Amino acid sequence: MAEMTVKTHNGVSKPRYRPTWAEIDLNAIEHNFRQVKKLVGKDVNIMVVVKANAYGHGIVEVSTVLEKLGADYLGVATTDEAVRLREHGLKTPILVLGSVLPSEIRIAMEKDVTLTLCSDELMDAVKKEADETGLKLKVHVKVDTGMGRIGVWHEEALDFLKKASREKSLVLEGVYTHFSSAGRDDFFTNYQIEAFEKLLVEAEKNWIKIPLRHAANSIATVDFKRSHLNLVRPGLIIYGMYPKHTFPKLIKLKNALSLKTKIVYIKDTPPGRSISYGRTFITQKHTRIATLPIGYADGYERNLSNKAEVLVRGHRAPVVGKVTMDQTMIDITNVRGARIGDEVVLIGKQGFEEIRTEKLARLAGTIAYEVVCSISNRVPRVYKP
Ligand SMILES: *Cc1c(COP(=O)(O)O)cnc(C)c1O
Repeated sequence: MAEMTVKTHNGVSKPRYRPTWAEIDLNAIEHNFRQVKKLVGKDVNIMVVVKANAYGHGIVEVSTVLEKLGADYLGVATTDEAVRLREHGLKTPILVLGSVLPSEIRIAMEKDVTLTLCSDELMDAVKKEADETGLKLKVHVKVDTGMGRIGVWHEEALDFLKKASREKSLVLEGVYTHFSSAGRDDFFTNYQIEAFEKLLVEAEKNWIKIPLRHAANSIATVDFKRSHLNLVRPGLIIYGMYPKHTFPKLIKLKNALSLKTKIVYIKDTPPGRSISYGRTFITQKHTRIATLPIGYADGYERNLSNKAEVLVRGHRAPVVGKVTMDQTMIDITNVRGARIGDEVVLIGKQGFEEIRTEKLARLAGTIAYEVVCSISNRVPRVYKP
């Protein structure tokens, strides 16, 4: 088999031999970004969330496209992700959405990375760092209105904002909160946005000026206009996945990630033979079993054993037996003419058929987010222009 040359995350081209890869359609990401832009209007800024390697799509490639498209902000989970983007020359403002340790302040100041601030400890540490370096730190204060994760409780947030706004070592650029149940519990989501709006009014009364105010994740971006404020933080929809089954009516997205492999082995199997570990599948009749060079070490979940389907020659073929670490078996009895070397689609389209990430997630008992984030580093990402 001819080798593939792929561009890896650090931009180096290197040959790969195993025919298992993820194809990333950057045009789809462009399309989805434009759809979101259209939806929120020109007065609302967009921070695209590119944490966790852009949900497995490749943080540098995706962010580079988004910067060209005029994304106002990038949201990452960790300081390391932010620094990596800066080292690749990205100039767009970046917010670290997680809570960091004092040891991360210096590099954030140096690389012009915005940090999330929600503790007195971090504020004190910034002051100390600023005294030593003469540098300031850009921050967004995180308010907990009901997520129960990081953030100052909303009842205590006004005092915290007052303190932060007086602190000379800080540039208080933003304030934000995060929904715990957007799209699933309207009552609670309303409660959260009301608590946040109340805080914003109080802050204004106290002459605290905060340029960026934000709350909306993908679900709220699409279906809860009131929460847009002046910046939205979509992640999932930018990659073309729908967080709710009703959403295709509200926004038209293009799926950006396809997961592909090729058949490497085919075996005619008589009735009564068991397939894979634990013998969870027994052939009932004469069956053609193909082996795919992909397994749970690639992120193809073991929970998909005996549940998922893949596409071969435009037909659906079921996964049979347990998915193993590096190999998965499928039943190709009904796929006429299937041969070694045939391309197999595990996520994405082939012919008139499509395997959607959302569907695969449901089969595996998880959410689309986890499916794409789980695709491991062993799987090279190949970029369609
Ligand atoms: C991950 C994340 C988002 C994006 O969520 P989606 O559901 O993917 O749109 C937004 N805000 C915060 C704080 C997050 O952690």
